[in-house]
Amino acid sequence: MKRLDLNSKTFLVAGAAGFIPSTLAQFYLEQGAKVIGIDNFITGSKSNIEILSKYENFTFIEACLFSSFPALDQFEQIDYIYSLASPASPVDFKQIPLEIMRVNSEGTLNLLNLAHQRGARFLEASTSEVYGDPEMHPQPETYFGSVNPIGPRSCYDESKRFAEALTMSYHRHYSVDTRIVRIFNTYGPRMRANDGRVIPNFVNQAINGEDITIYGDGTQTRSFCYVTDLVNAMHEVMFCHDHTPVNIGNPDEYLIRDVAEIIKMVLDSKSKIVMKPLPDDDPKKRRPDISKLLSLSPFKPQVSFKDGLRQTADYFLQ
Ligand code: UDP
Repeated sequence: MKRLDLNSKTFLVAGAAGFIPSTLAQFYLEQGAKVIGIDNFITGSKSNIEILSKYENFTFIEACLFSSFPALDQFEQIDYIYSLASPASPVDFKQIPLEIMRVNSEGTLNLLNLAHQRGARFLEASTSEVYGDPEMHPQPETYFGSVNPIGPRSCYDESKRFAEALTMSYHRHYSVDTRIVRIFNTYGPRMRANDGRVIPNFVNQAINGEDITIYGDGTQTRSFCYVTDLVNAMHEVMFCHDHTPVNIGNPDEYLIRDVAEIIKMVLDSKSKIVMKPLPDDDPKKRRPDISKLLSLSPFKPQVSFKDGLRQTADYFLQ
């Protein structure tokens, strides 16, 4: 991994109270960088900010990126901006679709303008959702995707596609130094227990002896990356020289029904497995083609699925 002298650098992390952004912020704080976190707590958690606030090089601003973008004049220097503020769970897509669309459009625009004014490097955290329900497998960055533009997931998929287009336009038109990563399914400590996604659901159901709820027949697939592996890869992309999108994920692919069995086994749970209806537009398969990431960095996932699940369960148990 690129270990740089970051003592004199300032990182702005949008969405700092969230699961991935708070892990990323801590990664930079531990290397001595200054970190400014912004969040409105729409889905982020105060406890994540409490952890970050123990570092004297951390500053937190409670603000909404689209309706009350904070004045950042007090900060003389902002070198790197991570655009990570979007809610990202299918449960959020149902409950707060307009907030998701606004943060990924107006919020991203505000952050790109800031990058332009300050000469900061900007990284847009996009998503594997831009591939929709993919017809190509695994998904390389060159695949344009198969997205239902009016479906229940479209608030996220389409607004992230827009955020990517906006980022490339700022790069082409204003020469802003931009990066784009497409994040595949990620899990680990600091996920919300009620986030609704498969790993927190299954792990909490297994811990509590509740039924494990498989949606559909469980033959759909996903590939799961542990959060610290993801953060290392995001850092690599921020410090590479490629402006076009880079997939980040762990290419180990699992059937969802196998995920249920693995979680039961790892947590020694007696939970029953039950079937529930499959949500509309649920992608049938997903696995990142990470050839591009491997050509740019020495990325190698360090945390096995079983170890990552144990650590995630420990977090929920605490
Ligand atoms: N899923 C499931 N049971 C749950 C939650 C999710 O079977 O309790 C399935 C969901 O239908 C999808 C996969 O697990 O096929 C991954 O869902 P998740 O919400 O974690 O993320 P997605 O990749 O769909 O955004």
